[in-house]
Amino acid sequence: MPLDLSDRVQTVPPSGIRRFFEIAEERDDVISLGVGEPDFATPWAARDAAIASLEVGKTSYTANRGKRELRERIADYVADGFDLEYDPADEIIVTAGASEAVDLAFRALVDPGDTVAIAQPSYISYEPGVIFAGGEVCSVPTSKADEFTLTVEALESAGADEADLLVLCYPNNPTGAVMSEAELEPIAEFAREHDLTVLSDEIYAELTYNGSHTSIATLEGMRERTIVFNGFSKAHAMTGLRLGYALGPPKAINAMNKIHQYTMLSAPTTAQHAAIEALDSCDEEVREMVAQYDRRRQFVLSRFREIGLDVFEAKGAFYCFPEVPDGWTAEEFAEGVLREEGVAVVPGDVFGAGGEGHLRVSYATGLNDLREALDRIETFVEEHV
Ligand code: PMP
Repeated sequence: MPLDLSDRVQTVPPSGIRRFFEIAEERDDVISLGVGEPDFATPWAARDAAIASLEVGKTSYTANRGKRELRERIADYVADGFDLEYDPADEIIVTAGASEAVDLAFRALVDPGDTVAIAQPSYISYEPGVIFAGGEVCSVPTSKADEFTLTVEALESAGADEADLLVLCYPNNPTGAVMSEAELEPIAEFAREHDLTVLSDEIYAELTYNGSHTSIATLEGMRERTIVFNGFSKAHAMTGLRLGYALGPPKAINAMNKIHQYTMLSAPTTAQHAAIEALDSCDEEVREMVAQYDRRRQFVLSRFREIGLDVFEAKGAFYCFPEVPDGWTAEEFAEGVLREEGVAVVPGDVFGAGGEGHLRVSYATGLNDLREALDRIETFVEEHV
């Protein structure tokens, strides 16, 4: 039969947020707090470097792993910022977004039948990525009672001790939770004890609002069993330039590079020029964006409390995760507020176990729109709750 689709691709359901985009298209006054991308423009110096590279015709492939100069900058950046020491020669690979890095890691490490534990709620791409690689998912729910941090109890009750890999994402999309060194320590111990490889998506590492980010890879005995993902989409507001990277032991990075060299060749060259400049000269802009996200975060949290929706104190990324009122599902509430008030938020269920009854609200939107959106949500609550 022609076009006989693979079981793998058919197993994965379409993204749960598509229906909301369709409803959103019916109105022309929708304020979207639904997207996970910065509203800021890429810092000018980075854009300028990309333009300059095009003007002189730097449009060839780069080394498969990414330009050496960029890997060196990344090594300095992660060492200075997060105490992560990686050799640019064979412990760093530059990819087309962190998305590609995550996918490469699954394909390099997962055999058919392997189990990948995922701390949830989490970014929507991990579960399909595991399935595309032939693995099986073990969902590990986190809850508001633990401020959406991962605990050993949660890992044990989900049976993650039997898993081969563990995926973490802190600061977290969609909850905004962060994990401190003290909270990561028992997770690291669990990973060592049960011989788990850890995939740690730290793309929001720069966006923390009460203290700096700790990478699980910096804890004792973890470097050799962890792959860290990061990228330029969030902190440097470069989503469309599609540039990310992975850090890990040579064994893992070389295996990922083997897949990458056959399937991608190299990450976008123009974006690599922008990224070198972003790391060289854009710290000030990043600090300013982080300060603005923090102001918005405080505003959104305090407005939800005034409105009477219970909201956990998100401390990282650019999301908060309020609870819907009793008697509502997240989907009903999100659909109602979109149809009646024209505000798009994402029901928490989309992000997996533990997300039920919550909404992901992105504050990567200007304060004026946030103000108007929160007023509209208040009207909806006054009329219906
Ligand atoms: N990881 C997380 C947790 C994300 O939220 C996103 C983007 N929404 C990505 C990875 C993908 O990032 P990139 O643009 O670098 O592929």
